Amino acid sequence: MLLTISTTYRPATDLGFLLHKNPANVQSFNLPFGTAHVFYPEASDERCTVALLLDIDPIQLVRGKGAGNEGFSLQQYVNDRPYVASSFLSVALVHVFGTALGGRSAAREELAATPIPLEARITVLPARGGEPLLRRLFEPLGYTVSVQRHPLDERFPEWGESRYYDVQLGGTVRLQELLTHLYVLIPVLDDEKHYWVDESEIEKLLRRGQEWLSGHPERSLIVDRYLARQRSLIRQALLRLSEEAAAEDDREEEHEREEEAVEDRISLHDQRHGAVLAALRAAGARSVLDLGTGEGRLLSGLLADRSFERITGMDVSYRSLERASRRLKLDRLPPMQRKRIDLIHGSLTYRDRRLEGYDAATVVEVIEHLDPARLRAFERAVFEFARPGTVLITTPNVEYNAVWKSLPAGLMRHRDHRFEWTREQFQTWAHSTADRFGYTVRFLPIGPEHEELGPPTQMGVFVRA
Ligand code: SAH
Repeated sequence: MLLTISTTYRPATDLGFLLHKNPANVQSFNLPFGTAHVFYPEASDERCTVALLLDIDPIQLVRGKGAGNEGFSLQQYVNDRPYVASSFLSVALVHVFGTALGGRSAAREELAATPIPLEARITVLPARGGEPLLRRLFEPLGYTVSVQRHPLDERFPEWGESRYYDVQLGGTVRLQELLTHLYVLIPVLDDEKHYWVDESEIEKLLRRGQEWLSGHPERSLIVDRYLARQRSLIRQALLRLSEEAAAEDDREEEHEREEEAVEDRISLHDQRHGAVLAALRAAGARSVLDLGTGEGRLLSGLLADRSFERITGMDVSYRSLERASRRLKLDRLPPMQRKRIDLIHGSLTYRDRRLEGYDAATVVEVIEHLDPARLRAFERAVFEFARPGTVLITTPNVEYNAVWKSLPAGLMRHRDHRFEWTREQFQTWAHSTADRFGYTVRFLPIGPEHEELGPPTQMGVFVRA
């Protein structure tokens, strides 16, 4: 069983620091089911590849099993386990690359937190669900996926195809993310765990899936297979995932009130939505996507104007969508109105085909809630994949914070903000994003402008070239 991971980050040999494995050495690790070898087939400044070769001992597998697992006895010796990527690989990843899997690196701390170009190749991956499922699992996480199916036997083409695939994944992600995705999704694809699945697996799944699982479109299938289809475990895990989302929502709601308390003197909220609606009308948009719609305040404004024929609100928080639905009284709208609007659950850091084909997208006070490490994924999801004609992005202008006496110096407007940008920071980001994806961008102030500090809110108007 062979897994390789390559990077073209410069200097590429920094991969060795991230993995805590010196590219000059070959190392071997004893595991309960065989031996893992780590070595580097290539290690130059331009490109570096690490290989994890797992040598599974079928005899050891049989010895490890107690009574009650007889099956037919040959199967214990003749099976695919030594040759394919499976839950054994996940166990090996923890043993061999545990530090990197935890997102740590003693010598390259910052690099561990930075998305870099990475490629993973798994030469023999059993995939129940085939290429479509492979794509449905990896593409929403931002990977390009290339797949080649192995024939059952090269010498007997008439026997047809096997369930084994040669899979290559490419993306700009943190190494930890790549390892975590492999750790969870390889056993999910294989769908055959080598050990008894108990409650401790829920903890592992939630820990490894913390950053991405609750927003993944195939969440249920992943949980179902990862927990080996044990209903009570699956129920517990799904409940925990939704409870975590709900607790997050409660904090969110409280924070929103705090933020409004700071900003409300000038009812900035209303001015923001007024400015966004005006820009949408000026762009002549008929179909509008409101990304990170929250309680759907902008959606009410859109619904009230019939020139917007198709309106979709999207949010990662299910609870917010429920509140939006209540606020808009969706269940009581007349059918003609009801047809104009949709609420969808999804994350802005995944490619999502439901977001394609709109005239305009609005992202109002959302980007500052994103983990900076996820900004790249956000840029691609919006500008490369959804690709609406116009994109309106608003975010706080941190310079203006000094105007608000009630806001202690140095504090952000909202506890959940991951960053707040100056005008220059926002414009630099916006220009580089627009350039990369073939958009032009201009900027509009929102709210009363301060002579030196500028407006409280800044808006970028991106137009597809
Ligand atoms: N646009 C709304 C809400 C802004 S609050 C308004 O102007 O009132 C930020 C919203 O972004 C929250 O509802 C939060 O759930 C959502 N959000 C945060 N991260 C997200 C992500 N990755 N994908 C989609 N929505 C996200």
